[in-house]
Amino acid sequence: MTSNGKQHYIDAAKKSMEWHANYIKEMKKCRFDTVAVHGMYSMQESLDYNQGSIIEPIYMSSSQAYRDSDEMEAALGYEIPTWCYSRIANPSMYYLEGAMALLEGYGADIATSACATSSGMAAIQSSVDPFLIVDPKNPDAPRNFVATCQVYGGTFQQFAIRKDQEKGLEWRKVVNSNNIEEWESKIDKNTRFLYGEMPSNPAQAFFDLKKVIELGHSYGIPVIIDATVASPALLRPLTLGADIVIQSATKSMTTSGFGIAGGLISRENLVSKIENDDMKANFATYVKLLPNRDNGPNISPMNAILTLNDIRTLRSKMDLFSRNTMAVAKFLEKHKHIEGVDYLGLESHHLHELASKYLWLVDAEYDEMYGKPVNRYGHLMSFRVKGGAQATRDVFDAFKRIWRATDLGRIKSVATIPAISTHSQQGEEGRKAANIPMNLIRLCVGGEHSDDVIADLDQALAALDGKKVAVTSPLFSFGGASSAKLQR
Ligand SMILES: *Cc1c(COP(=O)(O)O)cnc(C)c1O
Repeated sequence: MTSNGKQHYIDAAKKSMEWHANYIKEMKKCRFDTVAVHGMYSMQESLDYNQGSIIEPIYMSSSQAYRDSDEMEAALGYEIPTWCYSRIANPSMYYLEGAMALLEGYGADIATSACATSSGMAAIQSSVDPFLIVDPKNPDAPRNFVATCQVYGGTFQQFAIRKDQEKGLEWRKVVNSNNIEEWESKIDKNTRFLYGEMPSNPAQAFFDLKKVIELGHSYGIPVIIDATVASPALLRPLTLGADIVIQSATKSMTTSGFGIAGGLISRENLVSKIENDDMKANFATYVKLLPNRDNGPNISPMNAILTLNDIRTLRSKMDLFSRNTMAVAKFLEKHKHIEGVDYLGLESHHLHELASKYLWLVDAEYDEMYGKPVNRYGHLMSFRVKGGAQATRDVFDAFKRIWRATDLGRIKSVATIPAISTHSQQGEEGRKAANIPMNLIRLCVGGEHSDDVIADLDQALAALDGKKVAVTSPLFSFGGASSAKLQR
């Protein structure tokens, strides 16, 4: 076999990159649903390379073969786009990443890119670690990051144990994330980034995103937002100026529940004081090709396509789930066994007004059903049961159709008691700061008819009828929970 020469491959790659850039331009003219349905997979590509398959192919392959040593050298030297080895890249991952990047950048004239990961936690680690590196000019300087303490339980552990406790990377906790002065008071010259979850899981903390972005940028540091609960159908932080968005694609994006998946999506030329031009120019691609190549947290081709397949209908599902959740929240709000309902969609929620500034169903103005902008608040709500920890477990144990699972954003309604599950590791103090009492049930309403979800809740709450329950609920008492454990 004769050699083609490296330049041959570099020239060919240039052409395909041009085609790629034009395709993105075309997709950016389409509405959200069209982008979600087609993503980066075109009819031309299907006909030329994939036997006309109308669905993106699953490349279940560890690695890629090369035509000759020149192509191999160019590929492994990252001189041409390639997928060489599935730990780093794979065509199936590429389709998912392309779709995520387009959806998070939807509606704004910004360039975005994505790196798909094996889980949401991997996406968080991949996003924050590059900012926490030792400063070669000042290797002994302390390093800190400022993040809200209302975060997902796994994130809390990653920050509190793996970073703060084990590596001495100080987590400066923002307790009231809606207080911009508190954010600012925690920042100093050693702060590497600001981090927040919005809305938070399960407490639905919410902050003025634009102000936090402005604040971070005024200190020259990036703002990283976990927008898992909202999904790009309701909130796209990159379009408001945030630098990186985290998606636990396991949740709102993959409603089917087929597997675990994550992604980080970044805007080009993000803000950071770290002196690394490649990293700042295209963070997601940098992470994908370098740190994640070495650390290995990227997604499998199978999970990438399963996730992609669910994303196609993201907007209509988030709309349906939101409407169902609103109906359920209104029902629970009036129920005699309920102490309170927390749902950003309810006017009674103290953050309702702020949430209404940010949470909009994308493209509602182009939807024949609405024809105008419409607020939607997502599938995550929680409620507190009167009577404390044991009463809460009694109601929870009586669910017949709502699944008892530590899950979120499913097509099936799921519920959990965060204090004894997702948020059990962080201890009483951590839960108190994150506002997670023992009598809190987190409920994520899915795609069933809301009447049937309400009927299930109604019969479960009837378990408390006639029972003698404590009049006041000791919010952070462990009595109920631990004695129940002993009985089992
Ligand atoms: C579940 C979740 C994560 C972690 O994602 P995994 O896919 O489970 O690793 C991160 N953030 C939020 C808000 C979550 O709900």
